[in-house]
Amino acid sequence: MSVKHQAPRGTRDLLPDETPLWRWAEAAARGVLERYGYGEIRTPMFEDYELFARTAGESSDVVQKEMYRFTDLGERQLALRPEFTAGVMRAWLESGLGGRARVHRLWSAGPVFRYGRPAKGRYRQFSQLNCELVGSAAPGADVEMITLFVDLYEAWGFRDLIVLVNSVGQPASRRAYGERLREVFAPHREALSADSQQRLETNPMRILDTKDEKDLALLATLRANNALPTLLDSIDEADRAHWDAVLAGLEAAGVRYEVDHGLVRGLDYYTRTAFEVHDRSLASQSALGGGGRYDGLIEMLGGAPTPGVGFAIGMDRTLLVLQQRGIQAASGDVVCLVAMEGTRAAATALARELRREFTVECDVEARGFSAQMKTAGKSGARFLVILGEDEWARGEVALKDSRTGTQQTLARIGLADALRALTQETWKQGEAL
Ligand code: AMP
Repeated sequence: MSVKHQAPRGTRDLLPDETPLWRWAEAAARGVLERYGYGEIRTPMFEDYELFARTAGESSDVVQKEMYRFTDLGERQLALRPEFTAGVMRAWLESGLGGRARVHRLWSAGPVFRYGRPAKGRYRQFSQLNCELVGSAAPGADVEMITLFVDLYEAWGFRDLIVLVNSVGQPASRRAYGERLREVFAPHREALSADSQQRLETNPMRILDTKDEKDLALLATLRANNALPTLLDSIDEADRAHWDAVLAGLEAAGVRYEVDHGLVRGLDYYTRTAFEVHDRSLASQSALGGGGRYDGLIEMLGGAPTPGVGFAIGMDRTLLVLQQRGIQAASGDVVCLVAMEGTRAAATALARELRREFTVECDVEARGFSAQMKTAGKSGARFLVILGEDEWARGEVALKDSRTGTQQTLARIGLADALRALTQETWKQGEAL
């Protein structure tokens, strides 16, 4: 048999043996976000193409090479979202949220789309968890964002994160810095990759963001010779004060960080703080996520000047690390019903009743007793409830607990109570550990 269709390149299916870990991670994140006071916002998966082109910058890789752009049947130019922030800010403006409170804390999660070269941990459809703090220019807002980022990862059991921070200043100081870089790189044009030669014309700062070996070698040489100016040396006094306050705040919050002069982020709308988080177990190039301040973004979308800071976490990479570490979502106790010829109908009714409260497996193929027992043994169900014909006639069932190895016969009407008591007993033990 030849299968006629495959998942599109760069996409993948998450099968039932993987989704419990995703659900666990998502639930843990929701808990942290709630405790930080963030509200969920859900925006469309596609928006006007112009929204992304304008905010990310025409020269950005995302717009130039990675956008899933299409024309719909009504001739509208649309694009699948390559990131969350632009859509969330569009919604914030359109809904008038800004008029209701000065500061908003928002999170979103879901698929984003980028037409890149697929690899392990790099997909064309991937999942992000995105947070935004809109309305505050204070350094404390940046600190809260970075702290929230780290606390999400702590909730997922990560203890070895590297938080890289930098300040990308304001558009004016960036332009000046870009000019300085252009002068520095001009004599080394030939040593740059083709992409970076083009960046030299359009946006020299992006050369610092390169993943190309050739570029990286040149950058290393320039740094070693102290010939590469840093952006931090070009930012103005106000930005410098903001930067110092952010670092002091991170120290006060107990967040460990490293300053990374090469961190410039891929999008044009960032101002001041930029950050990225890596895990020591992943290759240095693959960030788990990153973010920064985007004080110019809302104005760019036609709103009143409003500051904001945010981040996006790559869930696929995060889950890859969790899987590599062998972390599994704890599964609940499963009850497996085993029926005889004469108790099949009763088992169907009992399964339905118990499923109001418990996870229940029950044969639907009218298979024999031993086939059902075999399946039950393989499924890893904790409880086995056997509906023998004679016992059932007496109003009884047999309950076997594979965890303790005990078996008891009990009144059918007491079954739910017994299961509840046994599962709660375990829960209490778990809590005491
Ligand atoms: P960015 O908006 O590019 O900083 O992306 C934020 C995070 O999303 C990255 O740090 C990655 O973890 C994740 N990410 C970005 N692109 C991809 C991709 N193509 N596949 C999987 N994860 C990605």
